[in-house]
Amino acid sequence: MRRFTDKLRILALLLILGLILAASSAAEPTEEAQADPIPAPAESEEIEEYGELEAPEAPEVPEEAETEEEEAPFSPFFPSGEEESPENDPVPAVPPPMPEEGDGGKEMIRIGLYWDENALEGANLLNYAGSGYEFGYFDDDLHFVPLYSTEERAISMLKDWSLYYDGGQYTSKPSTSGGLRVGCYHIRLGVCGSLEEALSLASGYEDGYVAMLNGSWCALCGSYASQAAAESAISSRGIYGTAMTASSRCVTVVATGTDRVLFQFDGGEQQSLGVMPRPEKEGERAVTWFRGRKYYGGFRYSRIDGGDLTVVNILEMDEYICGVVPYEMSPGWPLEALKAQAVSARTYSASQRGKHAKYGFDLCNSTCCQAYLGVDVDAPDCEEAVFSTSGVYITYEGELASTYYHSCDGGATENSENVFYEEIPYLKGVKDPYESQVTTGYENWSYVYTRDDITWILRAKGYNCGTIVSVTPTYTEMGNILSLKFSDSNGVSWTFSRSRAGSILYSKTLGKYTHSQRFTVTDADISSQDLFINEESEPLAETQRLWAVDGSGQVHELGEASQITVLSAEGSRTVNRSGAEGAIYASRFRVSGSGWGHNVGMSQHGARAMALLGFTYEEILKFYFSGVDVG
Ligand SMILES: [Zn+2]
Repeated sequence: MRRFTDKLRILALLLILGLILAASSAAEPTEEAQADPIPAPAESEEIEEYGELEAPEAPEVPEEAETEEEEAPFSPFFPSGEEESPENDPVPAVPPPMPEEGDGGKEMIRIGLYWDENALEGANLLNYAGSGYEFGYFDDDLHFVPLYSTEERAISMLKDWSLYYDGGQYTSKPSTSGGLRVGCYHIRLGVCGSLEEALSLASGYEDGYVAMLNGSWCALCGSYASQAAAESAISSRGIYGTAMTASSRCVTVVATGTDRVLFQFDGGEQQSLGVMPRPEKEGERAVTWFRGRKYYGGFRYSRIDGGDLTVVNILEMDEYICGVVPYEMSPGWPLEALKAQAVSARTYSASQRGKHAKYGFDLCNSTCCQAYLGVDVDAPDCEEAVFSTSGVYITYEGELASTYYHSCDGGATENSENVFYEEIPYLKGVKDPYESQVTTGYENWSYVYTRDDITWILRAKGYNCGTIVSVTPTYTEMGNILSLKFSDSNGVSWTFSRSRAGSILYSKTLGKYTHSQRFTVTDADISSQDLFINEESEPLAETQRLWAVDGSGQVHELGEASQITVLSAEGSRTVNRSGAEGAIYASRFRVSGSGWGHNVGMSQHGARAMALLGFTYEEILKFYFSGVDVG
């Protein structure tokens, strides 16, 4: 047996040199074909040998959505709902400006909570840590301008409409339990010159209240379902006043669970009601319940085009980041890693400012922008990470950086242009010697795909292919996947590159996944008779010099660009020094990889490892984002 393998080795080595020459003349005719996405006529002989049917790159591939059995492949790193999703937003085309320095005030940000079709008829607030609320509006610099206040701890902002109180919420659907109703017809007692005057006038009525309607203080009372009901109340109660209803921009504040109006605000198109919870003690932060979550900061209720309430949380940037970090990184991770995450999140948030300007806020609370579920008051390390890095951003040549991150890189990150489509100077692949110091759970993953599996996946994703017989991977300098070419039995091939190469083999139905951009494709049936020039795990690129012995016993060094052909159990295959290249013909293909996410920017587990090794957040960020400034 020993002798037999020795013989094989010699045979293979002899073949190497002979085939080097052969390989150089049999280079694949890919270049011309790749430029042309239109399939050549099927009869053409060229198709048989060279037929290339280049799939358009990711954004244009249209068919997937129609296929029901197959998971849409664009987000291979986010199996919906099953795993934490690393961020995977498209790279913005234009670097956003740096945040402007305020007039000594804190940097503020507006986060949309409910808007458009999710706008609310009524929105409750309850003090968690606080004592009552101030009513007013936010000026152009997002400073809160108070007008009036209440000691009530539970208040509800309602569109000025006929609403029923049912199941803890105010709604326009008539209550089945015949409960409480707040009408939108009121009795105006008078327009007043000041708040004091309005208060004095309103205090004469048990249901009296004050309102700021289009810039004027008013005293009003009552909330009736119709004009007629308000008019009849005027006569029956002997009130000197006018029945009225406010404009479709008006917001009414009541004590939750009652029809007792506390305040009313109609700022026309220009201003919307702002509500600022009051802290329990001066200098403390108020925390407020809203729809089952706790929030820092204030709220704004706009009725865009007279519709339901668009609810926006307006707060300090850092208060917002406190809400973001614990959902992006485990709050128990080391402080310097949390700081790196906090600075990334702050930079990202600032770069996305005004994304939802149409609805009057900067970022939304969903993964469209950045998941935001209010503040986690039990994450003190996250808060320390945020507040101790206040005002720190990641910039490149003075512009805010796009701070991509992913869960773990599995050994190396990747240039942005090799995953997405744009080259960004600070998003460069780096070999990561740190991440392997910690357990990520994604150190090694491996799936075996049969020809039928791959054929099925491609068809399910809308590619009308015959049986796939070969796979040709190419790799980046960092050793991550760059492209995958699949050829079918008719000689037609489909090539997918960058993030699309990372996702095309992802199949929830088959339970076979590519979790990152870092994987290899090999012959799954490869046997011990195969020839390896190096250790199987060591890429050729890391070998300093390569030598081969020819038939006459002469030793030759293999040059940098040499195509090397080796003999394997399945026949010969071509490799080059940057890694295996050339078609793999096999009945089963092994896809083996490491890491989780898109491999661009910061590895979160790598940041954790670096923090444990004593690196600062600045060092962590500068390691993953090449050439940036942190400050
Ligand atoms: Zn958004």
